[in-house]
Amino acid sequence: MRKIIIIGSGPAGHTAGIYTARAGFSPLLFEGWMAGGVAPGGQLTTTGTVENYPGFPDGVGGSELTMMMRAQSVNAGVDILTETVESVDFSKRPFTVKTSETEEKAEAVIIATGAIAKRMHVPHEEDFWQRGISACAVCDGALPVFRDQPLVVIGGGDTAMEEAMHLSKFGSKIYIVHRRDELRASKAMQDRVFANPKIEILWSTTLVDVKGDNALSHVVLKDLKTDKEYDHEAKGLFYAIGHTPNTSFLDGAVKTDNTGYIITKSGSTITSVPGVFAAGDVQDKQFRQAITSAGTGCMAAIEAEKYLLENPL
Ligand code: FAD
Ligand code: NDP
Repeated sequence: MRKIIIIGSGPAGHTAGIYTARAGFSPLLFEGWMAGGVAPGGQLTTTGTVENYPGFPDGVGGSELTMMMRAQSVNAGVDILTETVESVDFSKRPFTVKTSETEEKAEAVIIATGAIAKRMHVPHEEDFWQRGISACAVCDGALPVFRDQPLVVIGGGDTAMEEAMHLSKFGSKIYIVHRRDELRASKAMQDRVFANPKIEILWSTTLVDVKGDNALSHVVLKDLKTDKEYDHEAKGLFYAIGHTPNTSFLDGAVKTDNTGYIITKSGSTITSVPGVFAAGDVQDKQFRQAITSAGTGCMAAIEAEKYLLENPL
C-alpha cells in the first residue's frame, strides 16, 4: 500500500509528485498511456514553444518542459507507471486505483488528469494544427505570426469572448464565428466584446474547412441561414468550443459539476471525498494554464500531507 497515489502527468501531477516525494511520502504516479488521446506529459506535449512559464527567458518547447518535469519527479523519488487508470474505489480507505495491469491501494489520492480542448475536426485541421490553428489564445496569441493579422475565434461562450478580447491586442481584426444568433457568454463578457471595435461577430456561421500553403491562410465558413460557403482570410484560428475534463474513469466516485469538472472546496484542492484531492485543469475551467496547474498541484500535495498526518490509518 502507498501513502499517496497521483493520477495524471501534466504540470499538476508532477508538481504534486515532486512535493510529496520531497516530503518523504514515496508517491506512485500513474502517467497514463495516450489517456484521452494525449501522450504522458499532458497537454503541453501538443504545443510548440511555451513562452509564459517562468524560468525560461527564451521560451521552452512544450514536450521539453514536460520531460524536464518528469525527470525532476524521478530525481525527487516519484515512482512512475506508464499506465492509464481505468477505475477507482473511493468508498473506503485505503482507496483503490486500478489499471488494466495493476491494482494499488493508497491512503490519499491526488487526481491531476487534466482536460482536453475540443476540436471541430474539419477536413484539413491536422495539416495546420499549431501552424495557425490553436486551442489556446492566451498561450499562443502573442506569437509573431499572429501580429497585425486577421484572426478567427470559434465559439460563443465566455472562453471565446475572453480569447477574442485577448487576441484583439495583437491581431488586425478578430472574427468570432458562432453557430447561433445569440451568444452563450455572460452579459458582462458580451458587453466588452460588443464595445471592442476590433471584434466582429459572424452570426449563424460555422467552420467547414481550413486552407493554406505551409501555414493557415483562410478558413472556409458556411452561413447556416443561406447554406452558402465562402473563404475568409485568417492567419490564426482559435477553437474556444469547450474542454472535456478527463474524469469519466471516476464513474461518479467524487462530485463533479454538470460538465464533468471535479468540484473542489473554494481556495483548496479538497474534493467531496476526504483524502482525495484534485489539481490542475481537471478542476479548473477558468484559468487552464501550466503555471496555475502546477500551483494547484503544489496545493494538493501540501493538503494531502496535512490530511495524512491528521488521519493516520
Ligand atoms: P494535463 O496537461 O491535461 O495532463 C494530464 C495528463 O494526465 C493527460 O494528458 C494524460 O496524459 C494523463 N491522464 C489523463 N487521464 C489519465 C488516467 N485516467 N490515468 C493516468 N493518466 C491520465 N499553458 C500555458 O501555461 N502556456 C502555454 O503556452 C500553453 N499552451 C498550450 C497549448 C495547447 C495546444 C494546449 C491544448 C494547452 C496549452 N496550455 C498552455 C494549457 C496547459 O497545457 C494546461 O493548462 C496544463 O497542461 C494543464 O495541466 P494538468 O496537469 O492539469 O493536466
Ligand atoms: P461553453 O460550453 O460555455 O461554450 C462553448 C461554446 O462553443 C458555445 O457557444 C457553443 O455553442 C460552442 N460550440 C460547442 N461545440 C461547438 C461545435 N462543435 N461547433 C461550433 N460551436 C460549438 O464553454 P466555455 O469554454 O466558453 O466556458 C466553459 C465554462 O467556463 C462556462 O461555465 C463559462 O462561464 C466558464 N468560463 C468563465 C470565464 C470567466 O468567468 N471569465 C472564462 C472562461 C470560461 P452553443 O452556444 O450554440 O452551444
